Amino acid sequence: MDRDRILLTPGPLTTTLRTKLAMLKDWGSWDADFNAITARLRGRLLDIVQGHDTHVVVPLQGSGTFSVEAAVATLVPRDGHVLVPDNGAYCKRAGKLTQMMGRKATVLPFAEDQPVSAAAVDQRLQADPSITHVVLIHCETGTGVENPLAAVAAVCRKHGKGLIVDAMSSFAALPIDARELQFDALVAASGKCLEGVPGMGFVFIRKAVLDGCAGNSQSLAMDLHDQHVYMGKTGQWRFTPPTHVVAALDEATAQFVEEGGQPARLARYTDNCRTLIDGMARLGFKPFLQPAVQAPIIVTFHAPAHAAYDFKRFYEGAKQRGFILYPGKLTEVETFRVGCIGAIGRNEMNQAVHAVADTLREMGIPDGRPAR
Ligand SMILES: *Cc1c(COP(=O)(O)O)cnc(C)c1O
Repeated sequence: MDRDRILLTPGPLTTTLRTKLAMLKDWGSWDADFNAITARLRGRLLDIVQGHDTHVVVPLQGSGTFSVEAAVATLVPRDGHVLVPDNGAYCKRAGKLTQMMGRKATVLPFAEDQPVSAAAVDQRLQADPSITHVVLIHCETGTGVENPLAAVAAVCRKHGKGLIVDAMSSFAALPIDARELQFDALVAASGKCLEGVPGMGFVFIRKAVLDGCAGNSQSLAMDLHDQHVYMGKTGQWRFTPPTHVVAALDEATAQFVEEGGQPARLARYTDNCRTLIDGMARLGFKPFLQPAVQAPIIVTFHAPAHAAYDFKRFYEGAKQRGFILYPGKLTEVETFRVGCIGAIGRNEMNQAVHAVADTLREMGIPDGRPAR
């Protein structure tokens, strides 16, 4: 098969031909033409959150986790104390990286099929004044659950605590408006809902806290304050930029604007998600989450109860039919995940459901009904 398979994963994801073509050019990292792309891209990113008055945006080389790590290292003083509400795998990762960078981290556990409770965060901040920052995962990609960003932001503001948001899988799809919501940092990346290719992250940092971040980071590479100062002086990245990734993201962002921006992207992903869940329901599959807490980003399905089910074979069957699925990330129940994001629409989601039906047939499994 010479056609690229459709990636139903939470990044990397399927990109448009225009975005891929933007990578067929070499750029010099010192060159004014490339610096102009970086500047234009930073402006467009600030447009998306209406953040020009309140925030700067600092790009960083690497996958999304690099930017989360850099945001914590840059924003949180070395004697800071971070509260991490935890309802899934990416929350646990944020707690771990905070600790590994030598900051005190307190994890506040929640059920994996429920959103984080802003009231519980409120109580915890009340009870422990030593907490300086909260790290919130906006959409917990491990399950697909949406956490209450606005409510947690209001709680942090009330207590005068810094808020660092991992909006990796929600940015550009779910609404985030810096004029209505106070956050000290918000992290996203090139290869998620903006539909660029993976290779860089970017962090919105509140101007009011930016100067106070100087010297916080214990790492040379993971220092967003230094990256920002250098970029301000020279227009250049501190170290070798991922030039092709930047060019692709610039092109992907132009298409994002042409499509109608965040509301249009949310509408397409919501339609993808509904098409997927309805189609899978016809095959007997059951989503792990209740509809009210399901973000239209990625859907976790229970594995079929049938004895012949085996994720590896299921995955291979779907792959042969042109679709890349994603394994589950839960320890207690067997699941698999299907992404709704990327340069795909209703046709691709319907085709994916057909591929799953065909694969079940091949495996001798009558339907996708889970246990119980
Ligand atoms: C994708 C993602 C990340 C970053 O993962 P990388 O593998 O480092 O790109 C972080 N947080 C969330 C919620 C994500 O969805």
